[in-house]
Amino acid sequence: MEKVKCYIPQTLSEALEIRRKTGAIPLAGGSDLMVANSMGTGITPAFVKDVLVITNLPELKGITENSDGSVAIGACTTSAEIASCELVHPLVRDAASRMGAIALRNTATIGGNIGNASPKGDMPQPLILLDAEVVLQSVDGERRMKVDDYIIATKKTAIRDDELITRVIIPKTDFTHIFFRKVGMRRANAISKLTLSAAARIENGLVADFRASSGAAGPKVMRSRQAEELLIGKKVSELAACKEEFLDAWNGVISPHAMPEYRRNTTRRMLSYFIDALISGHPAGRVE
Ligand SMILES: Cc1cc2nc3c(=O)[nH]c(=O)nc-3n(C[C@H](O)[C@H](O)[C@H](O)COP(=O)(O)OP(=O)(O)OC[C@H]3O[C@@H](n4cnc5c(N)ncnc54)[C@H](O)[C@@H]3O)c2cc1C
Repeated sequence: MEKVKCYIPQTLSEALEIRRKTGAIPLAGGSDLMVANSMGTGITPAFVKDVLVITNLPELKGITENSDGSVAIGACTTSAEIASCELVHPLVRDAASRMGAIALRNTATIGGNIGNASPKGDMPQPLILLDAEVVLQSVDGERRMKVDDYIIATKKTAIRDDELITRVIIPKTDFTHIFFRKVGMRRANAISKLTLSAAARIENGLVADFRASSGAAGPKVMRSRQAEELLIGKKVSELAACKEEFLDAWNGVISPHAMPEYRRNTTRRMLSYFIDALISGHPAGRVE
């Protein structure tokens, strides 16, 4: 088997130089890459391309609040760190806290979860609902794009061979009601069968904002702005009358290839539950 190189840079600029010269694959927590390149139980994984270990780069770690109220999460910040940080939006904390088991959450990073671009990845789902952005950096500079645009399809992203994700920016939002569900085989250590985040801002009896995103229901996490528009601007008292139209429109989000009946019915029930909570005047906060 051909030998591959493993680079362990000490700084981000060193990492970006190596990435530019070699196109080596970034390895953060390794929890996806080690499995993807595994040769069987007890055998060291065999990588087919050079590897760039970015796990401990200080520039890629940590969570900070920006002056505009948005929150920046370093790409190598782990799920456990995200789950326990109050600066982070509760929907993202929920998703981070439900990933795998604690050992995995201490290893898995947000950059890796987005970089892996699995439709079952838990973080992109609330991030796409929140219109979060990824920052991509190369030796030439930075570019920013929505997570929704970065993830093109299953395992397909907009990253270039010379770039690294450096951070994720979550804009400030002011939802009055939020909802998150992960449906898995069991509560702990389960890959998602289906996930749903929903959020609304109710202002003076009007739906000022409404968003939802479905994970594990198609080739990537999906929102339907068209369906969301059916509810935005409506009076809360009008929601009951337009709920079915919204739920029917949401059906289009669920891929016909992914056990559509189960996923449509389950998603419909979850969305219906959230909308009913709004109709019944649920106090502001999390809808459980
Ligand atoms: C037992 C087990 C249970 C799991 N359970 C869950 C679960 O419940 N929910 C869930 O969502 N996932 C789960 N996963 C999948 C995995 O743990 C997550 O996707 C994790 O977030 C990946 O992060 P990582 O840092 O380990 O990524 P890595 O394996 O290091 O990398 C993953 C991909 O992202 C790329 N990448 C990483 N960092 C960067 C960067 N900064 N810039 C550019 N590209 C980058 C890599 O090149 C690679 O393509 C599970 C995995 C295992 C093994």
